[in-house]
Order: sequence, then structure tokens, then C-alpha cells
Amino acid sequence: MTATPTQTLPMLLEEVEVRRVDRISPSFVRLELGSPALADLGVDGPWWDQRFKLIVPHAPGAPLPTFEGAHAGWYAAWLERPVEERGVMRTYTIREVRGEGADTRIVVDIVLHADGESGPGATWAAAAQVGDRAVVLAPRRGEFFGGIEFVPGTASRVLLAGDETAVPAITAILAQLPPEARGAAFLEVPVTGDILSVVHPEGVQVVWLPREGAPYGSRLHPAVLEHLGLGADPQGAVAEDEVDPDLWETPTYSSSGEAVLDPAALGEADVRDGLYLWIAGEARAVTGLRRALVKDHGFDRRQVAFMGYWRLGVAMKS
Ligand SMILES: Cc1cc2nc3c(=O)[nH]c(=O)nc-3n(C[C@H](O)[C@H](O)[C@H](O)COP(=O)(O)OP(=O)(O)OC[C@H]3O[C@@H](n4cnc5c(N)ncnc54)[C@H](O)[C@@H]3O)c2cc1C
Repeated sequence: MTATPTQTLPMLLEEVEVRRVDRISPSFVRLELGSPALADLGVDGPWWDQRFKLIVPHAPGAPLPTFEGAHAGWYAAWLERPVEERGVMRTYTIREVRGEGADTRIVVDIVLHADGESGPGATWAAAAQVGDRAVVLAPRRGEFFGGIEFVPGTASRVLLAGDETAVPAITAILAQLPPEARGAAFLEVPVTGDILSVVHPEGVQVVWLPREGAPYGSRLHPAVLEHLGLGADPQGAVAEDEVDPDLWETPTYSSSGEAVLDPAALGEADVRDGLYLWIAGEARAVTGLRRALVKDHGFDRRQVAFMGYWRLGVAMKS
């Protein structure tokens, strides 16, 4: 009888252990997730805003699914199982990779929902203790995984803007930019206590915008527009039916089905101010910025990535 060779998935789908827990600010908990299997974690180039998936129990005390021997059809098979057994999958950012070989750890900063309801991801993180377990879906060295949206190309300046869910990505990008990089980063966070110390190039200005109870995006929107010299435009009302909860409009992908033009064909004359913009956060707030920048002020959509990282009142699909 011929033995069936074990199939290796082109990504890591591995159980990890919480190795360290730090409450770094009122709204963020930082976790280090480790497993000897993370020795194969890797991407070809900088991590930038690399996203990954975390599978956690659907409620405290519920089981964590096992993926041992998973094959190419694992995702569809996992989705068919009742949520009480399969847990939930949520998207986060690799804030940093620490250690090496069998001691490689993924650092993730998870937002504890400031107001409104919590979700399984935030609930799990809030209670996480060393030794707790979860499953990660992350890039395997040498294989294409996707999930990096920060692609500034030949832009001479960057503008990074986001709310607390984008703080891990923006701070990771800032830490990896070359020393000569120029631009600005705007980070809207729930409270003043969430202002973190960040590593960034001297030529990139970092502006923290504590909301202190104000609506999502209400500090980010005017700050970005003012920075671009477009006046302190107030965040115009965005109607419910204007908000795409899956908003993802990048130079190479459009969730609304808009024609995607080749970013490589973007001439210097089209690129306003030599700028590349990366904007992520609550979907309504990002929709408002997109409307202002692309529709009202004529930015070429090939120089901007607009990403709805979450939607107020809507649980992430998994
Ligand atoms: C590419 C990408 C990278 C991301 N990186 C990170 C990251 O590094 N750290 C991080 O914390 N988040 C990150 N997010 C956002 C995160 O995936 C969502 O916030 C997700 O909804 C959290 O799942 P949950 O189970 O806690 O809540 P869900 O079950 O999805 O939602 C339950 C309820 O909580 C609300 N909710 C969800 N998120 C928040 C929030 N932040 N504040 C207040 N209410 C909220 C929802 O509106 C809903 O009403 C990222 C998202 C994407 C797409």
C-alpha cells in the first residue's frame, strides 16, 4: 500500500500558547503568542501591516478547535461545524515578531472595546492569561500569504491615519519605515492614556487624537483634511446605506466593484503631492474620509488604501 504523503498547508494553521500578557494602556492588551511551529513564520520582505487570523473559543470556557492534519479543504469543513465547537476567527495585525526558531513569538495588540458590546476576540484577550491557547493562521516562510496592504511605491511622502484598531498596523509601519521617510501619522484612540511611545523616522510627524467619548472618526477626519490643506472640514454625515461594512478600497482591490486601474500606470502628474495615503478604522469613519478625499477633493484612488477594519454594531464574519 502506498502511504499518502502528509500535505503541508501553504500557511501556518497552528495552535499557539499565550506566553506573555501586558496591559499596555486602558484600551490595549498586548499578547505574545508562541509555539515551536512558528519557527516557519516568515514573509518575503518587511512585515509592514501584515494581518493574520486568530481563532479563539466563541465564549469563555468553550472549546478550541483542533486543526491537526488539516488539508486544503479545512476552511469549508471548519465553517460547517457549529460555532460552539469551532470558535470564531478574527483578524489582527502582527505588531512585531520576537525571538527566533522554536522560540518565535507573534506580538499582537488587541483593543478592548471602549464602548458598546464586546466581541469574542476582545473578550478572549481581556481575560487572557499565560498558558491560554488559540489558533493562528499566519504566513509560512517561502509561501505567498497576502495580507500586506502598505504599498507606497515611489511616493515621496506617506500619510497614515486610523483609529485604535489600526494603531498596531500604523505603529508597526512607522517602526519599519526607512530613516529618510517623510510624512505624517494620525492615530485616533479612545482616551489620552492610550497614547503609546512609538519608534518613527524623524521626518514623519506622529499625532495622537484621543476621542474622550466623541464619535468614531470625529477627531481623525478634520485632522487629516487640515493636514492636507483642505480646511478643517467637519466629518460630514455618512448615511447608513452609504456604509459598506466590508469596505476595502485599495489601489489593487475594490469591495464596491469599482474598476481597478493599474497602480503602476499612475503617472507623476496623477499623484497629488507625491503622497501615498493608508487609512483604516471604523467603516463609517473611513467612508467619510474616502468621500471627502476622492469624491470632494479629487485624490486618485490609486494613491490611497481605504480599509474598513470593523463596523460599529456589526460583528466580524467568520
Ligand atoms: C486587516 C485588519 C487588521 C486588524 N488589526 C487589528 C489589531 O491589530 N488589533 C485590534 O484590536 N483589532 C484589529 N482589527 C479589528 C478587529 O478585527 C475587529 O475590531 C473585530 O471586530 C474584533 O472582533 P471581536 O470578536 O472583538 O468583535 P466582533 O464580534 O467582531 O464584534 C462584536 C461587537 O463589537 C463591536 N466592535 C468590534 N471591534 C470594536 C472596537 N475595536 N471597538 C469597539 N467596538 C468594537 C462590533 O461593532 C460589534 O458590535 C483588524 C481588522 C482588520 C480587517
